[in-house]
Amino acid sequence: MAARAAGRRPCLTRTTPQEAIVPDLFIDGEWRAALDGRTREIRCPADGSLVGVVDEAGGKDTAEAIAAARRAFDEGPWPWLPAADRGDLLLRVADLLVRDRAKLARAESLDTGKRFVESEYDIDDIVNCFRYFGRLAAAESGRVIDTGSASTDSRVVYEPVGVCALITPWNYPLLQTAWKVAPALAAGNTFVLKPSELTPHTAIHLMRLLQEAELPPGVANLVLGAGPEAGAPLADHPDVDLVSFTGGLHTGRRLMAAAAGTVKKVALELGGKNPNIVFADADFDTAVDMALTAVFLHSGQVCSAGARLLVEDSLHDRFVDEVVRRAAEIRLGGPFDERAQTGALISAAHRAKVEAYVAKGLDEGAVLRCGGRRPEGLDEGFFYLPTVLDECTSGMSVIQDESFGPVLTVERFTGEAEAVRLANDTVYGLAGAVWTTDEAKAQRVVSRLRIGTVWINDYHPYVPQAEWGGYKQSGFGRELGPSGLAEYREAKHIWRNTDPSPQGWFA
Ligand code: NAD
Repeated sequence: MAARAAGRRPCLTRTTPQEAIVPDLFIDGEWRAALDGRTREIRCPADGSLVGVVDEAGGKDTAEAIAAARRAFDEGPWPWLPAADRGDLLLRVADLLVRDRAKLARAESLDTGKRFVESEYDIDDIVNCFRYFGRLAAAESGRVIDTGSASTDSRVVYEPVGVCALITPWNYPLLQTAWKVAPALAAGNTFVLKPSELTPHTAIHLMRLLQEAELPPGVANLVLGAGPEAGAPLADHPDVDLVSFTGGLHTGRRLMAAAAGTVKKVALELGGKNPNIVFADADFDTAVDMALTAVFLHSGQVCSAGARLLVEDSLHDRFVDEVVRRAAEIRLGGPFDERAQTGALISAAHRAKVEAYVAKGLDEGAVLRCGGRRPEGLDEGFFYLPTVLDECTSGMSVIQDESFGPVLTVERFTGEAEAVRLANDTVYGLAGAVWTTDEAKAQRVVSRLRIGTVWINDYHPYVPQAEWGGYKQSGFGRELGPSGLAEYREAKHIWRNTDPSPQGWFA
């Protein structure tokens, strides 16, 4: 944490002198500094360079943001606007995101260390998310029920839940934010957003775009800061109606317990330990290629990363040899290094966690086939080599726990039943894939996997029209798709008697 006096610098997404002096917390339609004046330095994980210094909220700032969101919800007009008007605003935001695509992608890459081109793809996905919910806002407004009686009518209308707390992680900062902000606004809620303290800049930029699109004051509020100080008050505050959280399992458990005291609605998008199942009849070259993409994209800092490779025994040696050969050739580098194929880990602390995870796996008997250390010559950043741990078995911690780094574990299986048993053998259930040229086998296996997203002969694609979320301890609730909007709505049944008269029940 840095003191405000110690060299506050403008965030790199800002371009005008006026913007450069504006503080970073957005509360009740105004940009404010933290009440106690604290700030935080944001450094690029790829080289440690200073990206910006941002205001660091504490509990009192969060309380003010909640109060502003409560007022904006209770006094309107945002929740009562026609849904189509709210949808129009989201579509305007989508256009503004397109306009600022390069700026946003640059800011995302500097905060996260991810390759610029990947950040550009993220912004495209974010635009699609805003467009999807912009169009859906008015499309699903309620339904009429046939009561079978001419003297009554009955309908169900959807209303916003209220004040939403939106808490997001650092791996896809603006994307995870968009998955919450767009449906929350489409449904007519107000919100307090608490992004990861490590990657705040694109959230700041998004607030500017919402302001430019003329969202009424108090509807969108932004607090930046550490989870326990700026985030925790969102979970137990009586004026917050819903908490939507994306992050780690342990934080999710804590938030859920804190939210229980006021019976808030809770949606949790937590971790994954995702199986990538390769049968012996798979297309060899494609399955190898995509096994690398599945786990090493964004250096494994992807909740749906295919971090567990399950290979049919008869294919194991040839397949793993080729995965290892190619993994060892992956080029690491900074966000703007055009030769780089993937980037750094988010922080020194996170890299230390990955290192400890690998060390434990080796202690438990896993065989290191490549990586397992920091690369040479990239000492300024938090880099770690793509790593393959072979001969893993289901009791090992490397199979049960998420590394959230560039580490692939390999398990052998024989036949469909064992593949399914091993794939389901963790507390998680987020995503995974099946590789086979036998369509019937693929369908049989898919139907038995306890996971929220499954790919057949592919890895990673998703579309905003389709729900995203976890089974088991990967969380509950869904983002994206119609269910992603339903998370932010209450259903109200309205029954009307058009010809009232005494019933005489107690006559
Ligand atoms: P994290 O749980 O440490 O933090 C997530 C957010 O919660 C951050 O904004 C953090 O400041 C906040 N937070 C931390 N403690 C808090 C508290 N006590 N009260 C309120 N807020 C608190 O997770 P992370 O390290 O930022 O992200 C990595 C994790 O996120 C991984 O486990 C990954 O699998 C998961 N993730 C899941 C999905 C999904 O769609 N299921 C997507 C992305 C990331």
